[in-house]
Amino acid sequence: MDQEIQVMYDKMKQRLDKVVPDVELRYKAELAVEINALKKERNAVILGHNYMEPALFYSIPDFVGDSLELSRRAAQTDKDVIVFCGVKFMAETAKILNPTKTVLLPSERAGCSLAASITAEDVRNLKKQYPGVPVVTYVNTYADVKAESDICCTSGNAVEVVNSLGNDTIIFLPDEYLGGNVAHETGREIIFPTLTPTPLPMGEGRRGEGKKVLIGWRGRCEVHEKFTVGDITTVRAQFPEVAILAHPECSPEVTEAADFSGSTGAMIKFVQKTSAPQYLLLTQCSMGDNIAAENPEKDMLRLCMVRCPHMNTITMEDTLNALKYNRYVIEVPEDVRLRAERAVQRMIEIG
Ligand code: SF4
Repeated sequence: MDQEIQVMYDKMKQRLDKVVPDVELRYKAELAVEINALKKERNAVILGHNYMEPALFYSIPDFVGDSLELSRRAAQTDKDVIVFCGVKFMAETAKILNPTKTVLLPSERAGCSLAASITAEDVRNLKKQYPGVPVVTYVNTYADVKAESDICCTSGNAVEVVNSLGNDTIIFLPDEYLGGNVAHETGREIIFPTLTPTPLPMGEGRRGEGKKVLIGWRGRCEVHEKFTVGDITTVRAQFPEVAILAHPECSPEVTEAADFSGSTGAMIKFVQKTSAPQYLLLTQCSMGDNIAAENPEKDMLRLCMVRCPHMNTITMEDTLNALKYNRYVIEVPEDVRLRAERAVQRMIEIG
């Protein structure tokens, strides 16, 4: 084996011995060396979302993290090319923040059910229905939807973003469950205008008086919506002391029944700082593998019937081809980009 490949294989083996079969590690170590050589040649940076499969996650990204961490990294890079190992809305956010750089997404099929649940036209209609009410949009949306928003948020800072606005009534898009969880944490009622014929009592509720309301949207993550309270009950019956962590895109009933709810970044910190006999993460399955690889002393349970079909389209082979053939280039029209950038930058400033 070539010396460089051997070094990469040893590094991956040390981390992933119990997570990835040896035959796969050897093959992926070769790919990783090829990708890293091309990355250098093209002066590129690779950003890897926490949901990437373990061999990719621990070999080629320069930075890994949740969408907020990666947005910050994307804003700071001085490289010419950004390869985003994540899904399209994340790569678009990188382009919004880096208009002069080439941003590549390794798979054309890396979409998102949440991002696809709402259009810019939907947001414009809501703004007409509730004039003057600020619009908070989850980063899991496409650029034209961000462009219609006042500020973006991630699951890691949604509560801070909502609290920062000081308005009693806020439009929060598009995740029904994240909206429900944020409403609960900020002491608000959530309503869904498409299903509620009675308009809001807009005379009150604007600022400082009356009911506090989030106007939500019925978008859902096709992964997190699948977890149920029944799953939690079943696992607890077998492992009574298990610590269960739920992503805020799970339903409010599920986050309530779990021991902790937070973004993927917050989940990682929770596992690192606590010492439960077992952990169960209610999120994309590969997250459990990635945390297990970094914390071999922790016992991670998995519910692997639930995987994101979009994140799973990003492979190391496609990442190599992205750098080799300069594909798939992410473009955002400049007028949309400028408006979306305001909303994203405002979020980054909040933290
Ligand atoms: S896990 Fe859910 S929110 Fe994330 S990319 Fe997949 S479908 Fe979208």
